[in-house]
Amino acid sequence: MKKNFNLILCGAIGFCLALPTSASTLASSDAPLAAAKSKNKQRSISKVEPINIETPAGCVPRLPWQVWVTYSDGSKEWRQTKWTNHMLSTEQQEANPEMYPAGKEYTISGFIIGDNTTDNGYPITANIKVVAEEWKVPAPKAVAQTLPLSDVNILGSNRLSSNKHLAIKTILSWDITQQLYNYRDTYGLPTEGYRTADGWDSPTTKLKGHGSGHYMSALAFAFASCTDPETDLSKEKNELRERIRRMVNELRECQERTFVWDSTLNRYKEARDYAPEEELKKMKGNWAAFNEYKKDYKNYGYGYLNAIPAAHPALIECYRAYNNEEWVWAPYYTIHKQLAGLIDIANNIDDKEIAAKALLIAKDMGLWVWNRMHYRTYVKADGDKAERQAKPGNRYEMWNMYIAGEVGGMSESLARLSEMVSDPTEKARLIEASNCFDSPAFFDPVAKNVDDIRTRHANQHIPMIVGALRSYITNGNPYYYNLAYNFWSLVQGRYAYAMGGVGNGEMFRQPYSQILSMNTSVMSDRNRNMYPNPDINETCCAYNLAKLTKDLNCFDPDNAAYMDYYERILYNQIIGSLHPTRWGVTYQYAVGMNAIKPYGNNTPQSTCCGGTGSENHVKYQEAAYFVNENTMWIGLYLPTQATWKEKGIVIKQSCEWPAESSVITVTRTQASQNANFALKLRVPYWATEGFDVKLNGKSIAKEYQPCTYVEIPAREWKDGDKIEVAMPFTKHINWGPDKMDLAATGKNESRTPFNPQWVGTIMYGPLVMATSDVTEWKDADLTLSSNLNELQPATASTDDGTKGKLYMLQLQKPNSTAITFTPDYYQTKHSTHYLRLNVESGAKKKSKKGIDKTALEQALQLAKERVESQNAWNALTVKVPAFSPWAPNGYARLVQQMEKAEAVNAKGKKELTQEEINTATSALNVAINTMRPGNLAEPEDLNELLPLLTDSKENIPNKTTELREAINYADMVVQYVNDGSGTHDLIDKAFKRLTEARKTVDK
Ligand SMILES: [Zn+2]
Repeated sequence: MKKNFNLILCGAIGFCLALPTSASTLASSDAPLAAAKSKNKQRSISKVEPINIETPAGCVPRLPWQVWVTYSDGSKEWRQTKWTNHMLSTEQQEANPEMYPAGKEYTISGFIIGDNTTDNGYPITANIKVVAEEWKVPAPKAVAQTLPLSDVNILGSNRLSSNKHLAIKTILSWDITQQLYNYRDTYGLPTEGYRTADGWDSPTTKLKGHGSGHYMSALAFAFASCTDPETDLSKEKNELRERIRRMVNELRECQERTFVWDSTLNRYKEARDYAPEEELKKMKGNWAAFNEYKKDYKNYGYGYLNAIPAAHPALIECYRAYNNEEWVWAPYYTIHKQLAGLIDIANNIDDKEIAAKALLIAKDMGLWVWNRMHYRTYVKADGDKAERQAKPGNRYEMWNMYIAGEVGGMSESLARLSEMVSDPTEKARLIEASNCFDSPAFFDPVAKNVDDIRTRHANQHIPMIVGALRSYITNGNPYYYNLAYNFWSLVQGRYAYAMGGVGNGEMFRQPYSQILSMNTSVMSDRNRNMYPNPDINETCCAYNLAKLTKDLNCFDPDNAAYMDYYERILYNQIIGSLHPTRWGVTYQYAVGMNAIKPYGNNTPQSTCCGGTGSENHVKYQEAAYFVNENTMWIGLYLPTQATWKEKGIVIKQSCEWPAESSVITVTRTQASQNANFALKLRVPYWATEGFDVKLNGKSIAKEYQPCTYVEIPAREWKDGDKIEVAMPFTKHINWGPDKMDLAATGKNESRTPFNPQWVGTIMYGPLVMATSDVTEWKDADLTLSSNLNELQPATASTDDGTKGKLYMLQLQKPNSTAITFTPDYYQTKHSTHYLRLNVESGAKKKSKKGIDKTALEQALQLAKERVESQNAWNALTVKVPAFSPWAPNGYARLVQQMEKAEAVNAKGKKELTQEEINTATSALNVAINTMRPGNLAEPEDLNELLPLLTDSKENIPNKTTELREAINYADMVVQYVNDGSGTHDLIDKAFKRLTEARKTVDK
């Protein structure tokens, strides 16, 4: 079975890539991968590497999201797949060891997407063998580490250095008193001279502290990155150090106010003493209560440090919902950001005293969390919801609440703290606390590779996985590694857009539905007209997926798929999320047709993405190099200088960014040291033509397998050793997994039907290429030959506006003007990322056998499950939590389309056409994919607010400050609702504020 298939390359760990046996890090005897000779011929798929998979009983097989294919002209490349077992019920069956016991063999069919051999793509089959053995996992110890941030510097004039300098300048411009205001307010310290916080840390929101936490991380990373050999940043470094000192000192002052001795208990008051159960059940979450709890800091318990009172994390134990006005937002989310900020300071500041103090604050707060979790919470997973919630503190329910249960990377920070402290009791407590943030409802299925990612809030769940993986280092339980590995692999094929990010309205939708999601996302304008809304794909998700990828790479650094993906998400979405010339970072990143990047977030507290956005642009270099005692991996080709202190060497990469070639020189800093190590260089998945590595002028291999590392075996490196990497960018397509058959195309959300067509993004090397020359879907149909020869590099300006190199491709359409493509990171508005592409392969299309109702039946099954869950909720006498599974307008659309689809499905096969089936399926899938959870507002819920907002803007000439502020607030709420994160209480509040503010004018 393993004869044709290399299980080892992706680690002894499992695999998600169908790699050929010949894929070795050095030359093999296969025909060269060089460009196909017959450039003008159409090429069709002639060979796909066999896919043979062993899967443990009780688990869903790990199917590859990309496979290595050979074309009729001899050329080869990676192609994306889509598998047919993606219905949840099918996966649950495959994970049932009674139905699929060890010894059973079966097949799963799938398709290579973007191919026209059949309507669904090029058919492929995976041969599955169920075995008794568990998945192999790496030892719970990182195989490789990144170099310290301060030891890697970005060189040259390019978008990387330009963004970095802009970010450092901006971070220093933020008012530190604004970052400290809420702490002083929560701990009874005077706030005179401290500016009120804004955004989600403002007096009217309950996510206070999240921004300050990100601010501390941003200070720490910016500080570490102020070691530029080309620009003197010592002044900035000193200023950053002073801000870090002030944050740490003042936070400790707040925290010390919780050190209250209790003479009755004969110990300090602890977390477990705060709000005994009977009191907790009566506690309220409204603003009046909030203001009372703020005065109670003496009772919070030893070590509590947060910008909101301890009542808020406690309220979660009573399953209090996400509702800014009446209950909580996400209290542990804010705690996590602050812990992360303190840990980042401890790891990066050169002031040892401040580093120790930052760690002490974080440790004391970490132990507060342990105390609370250990004494006041538990896990009960069985029974129905009412039974599970009968007693406060059931973590199964707490962490499974939409947004309110969003704990960010609590488990990650606590696990990191456990690694940083030396006391064995504290270590044990911190790792116990880390795993108290496990969400069994989510983790258990994903650990078996059941895709329970679908319909979950994206950024609520990605950091949980980051934490689970981090905890594996200390707890050594393979469950956590498998969970993280499966999650990451499922995201690749089923959820990611071409630029690497995920989500729609902050949520994971159905697997393989990225194109449907993109084309049916709509928003309402102030006159209640509906329009397509390309603001999807939250930037925080990209930040956290990059972190997860970097951490997975530490366990299995030979698996080049990790850094291929890291490169995709960094070079496209993350670098593109900062405006090139002024500070402005994206919340939702624009994906789709004629999209404008919604830059904003003036401060780290503005939104969640203002927070992660404040960190993103001062640490681009963090994953460029990985090392262990005898190897260095070059994961990214970035213009950088890296100092590897343990070996006494400096590695300098001389290249542009983006780079098609890099010259790497080695310098020894201390001749006495041992500079003996192997060097591994990534061969990117896209490097299918002309890739070469020369060591001191000689090629090191005859051929290079894309998506692997090529190795220069261990040697004593000498001063001046030179490695030249050539990696010409190749044109290829990143395909959407679902064909596009309709799109929201204009005013009032008219959904225009099209012939079903594959949709793809043109890639040039690692770059997502976008165009401003296509602004409507009717103009987005293109036919290309299989070698993409219509696309040619164009003479570009040598400057991308930041003194960086700008790549450009042009597509010459017959009898038409050329369409120009530039990288997505470069584009700011009117960007179209996906086109309807018909790539001619010359292969004969297989004739269809009769009609196919599979997709219709699958959509109907999903619809029925949703109706059943809504009915079950309706039947409850006590509705806990007080939210239905689905919001009413979307639900009504579902019921309507389901009836139509059922009528079609009931017809006899002879009365039906395939088109009729496809139309019904498509309409039902739209209804399914545009539903929102019951606690979220829908665009229809803006019907009262919008006319009042419009009238306030247009018909009141002399606006008071109060009215102007109320209008701004209402605009923000409208935006949130359109983007998918708005709640009813926000709409109510905006309406009330506007109504009140209008009175100030009438008077
Ligand atoms: Zn965000």
